[in-house]
Amino acid sequence: MNVVDTRPYELLIGERWTAGAQGRTFDTLNPATGQVLAQVHEATEADVDAAVMAAHEAYQQHWRKTTPAERGRLLRRLADLFERDREKIAWLETLNVGKPITHSLDSLKAMPASLAYFAGIIPAVRGETIPVGQPDVLNFTLREPLGVCALVMPWNYPMTLTVNKLGPALAAGNTVILKPSEVTPLSTMALARLFEEAGFPPGVVNVVNGPGATVGQRLVTHPLVSRVSFTGGTVTGARIQAAAAGDVKRVTLELGGKSPLVVFDDAPMEKAVAVAAGDLIKNSGQVCISCTRLLVQDGIRDEFIQRLQQRLATVRVGSPTDPATEMGPLVSAAQKQRVEQYIEIAGREGALPAASGQMALDATTAAGFFVRPTLLLNSHNRMQSAQDEIFGPVQSVIGFRDEAQALDIANDSRYGLAAVLFTRDGGRALRIAHGLQSGSVAINTGVRTSFDAPFGGYKQSGIGKERGLEAIYENTQLKNVKYDMSV
Ligand code: NAD
Repeated sequence: MNVVDTRPYELLIGERWTAGAQGRTFDTLNPATGQVLAQVHEATEADVDAAVMAAHEAYQQHWRKTTPAERGRLLRRLADLFERDREKIAWLETLNVGKPITHSLDSLKAMPASLAYFAGIIPAVRGETIPVGQPDVLNFTLREPLGVCALVMPWNYPMTLTVNKLGPALAAGNTVILKPSEVTPLSTMALARLFEEAGFPPGVVNVVNGPGATVGQRLVTHPLVSRVSFTGGTVTGARIQAAAAGDVKRVTLELGGKSPLVVFDDAPMEKAVAVAAGDLIKNSGQVCISCTRLLVQDGIRDEFIQRLQQRLATVRVGSPTDPATEMGPLVSAAQKQRVEQYIEIAGREGALPAASGQMALDATTAAGFFVRPTLLLNSHNRMQSAQDEIFGPVQSVIGFRDEAQALDIANDSRYGLAAVLFTRDGGRALRIAHGLQSGSVAINTGVRTSFDAPFGGYKQSGIGKERGLEAIYENTQLKNVKYDMSV
């Protein structure tokens, strides 16, 4: 499918598609081949200012005055257009991110429903009356939009993460500026073309591209931006939080993880192995909620590892455009280098790296950024490789004796994004779920986020919740009004 533009992709600022103030471009690559896929125009700081001004004017002049029904209608129309273009957008993610096409198509399936869901919960943007106990006083709240929101995105799931931020921000009555990752901007550009066709007024959604240090930084410090919603690395998130603190912006941070998968000796073994293998290979392990620490109870450790290795031996690693491929490349040469360095570090600190999978590369993919799925056997939790987020197809395998030790190890992390546990003992499952310092917990199944359930990390995995009804609260502010009816 020919889905990539040969002309450089332009920025969307207000009603204008533009090459930006200086007309500069940067390359975006196909990670499966290492070749340039397309050129993208890079915003200057003046372009960022213009995008913020366009969003501010759109908010002041019409968007904040739109009725809930009107916002809902536009979001539903966007959902229909997304469904029409879903396959094209999926191919762009495959070519630009390196996701196997089967996975791109699958991960985008729920996006129209996500947009329709946020259209549907617009009636939740409302206040309440409060019986404050003062005669003649009517006390009530108004839930109001925040204004201009900056949505700053990472490269691993460009489209699902963008749609799940965009829906609630617009539903709540805000205008937005999207800042895709400079590594993977293409699917967002395909989405950007749908807003005008859906009937959104100009300036309600704007898109600027370019590096985080310039374009991103300017956006998150702009005085007219009232909320920053960021998904990305913890170090960047902390920097953004500090930068946005200058004028006390509302900040939501969805950051890194080092999630544990805890397997007790009474676990449904086959299912646990499938979830562990799935987390290792899905999106080449570049998933914030992937379980990258496998905690297996001593009595079943050997059997579990043997079964997991049998499964991993069959994984087909290769071109993401081939429907038979289970695992594609990493997103960039830098990410490949980072992952390989961590495998070396793990070896030096005493773990036994065991690579598996079948590399199916040809002349076009020989220079792609591929790494085989790798278990770090004989790991312990204090190793650097078990503490740092590697963000690749690598899992530390760690043993434990009993429930208390499992919980101690699971919580011994600066992250707290997600956790999975497998046991048939219901009481134990609930005790562990209660004790885990983690924003999401899955019992006897994998963590799979959905647009209608709240999501967000504990500890250094983030601040605030997105998705579900909580996303509406995150995108609004509450005003308390008191009225003396005796006057
Ligand atoms: P990153 O932090 O390098 O970049 C993310 C975005 O921030 C990019 O658009 C980048 O241009 C921008 N940016 C960088 N510096 C900036 C600055 N000073 N000011 C404003 N913007 C700036 O992250 P990445 O490498 O693209 O993504 C991988 C990370 O994202 C991993 O740590 C992963 O765990 C995390 N992630 C978290 C979630 C979640 O929901 N918790 C989901 C996906 C990915």
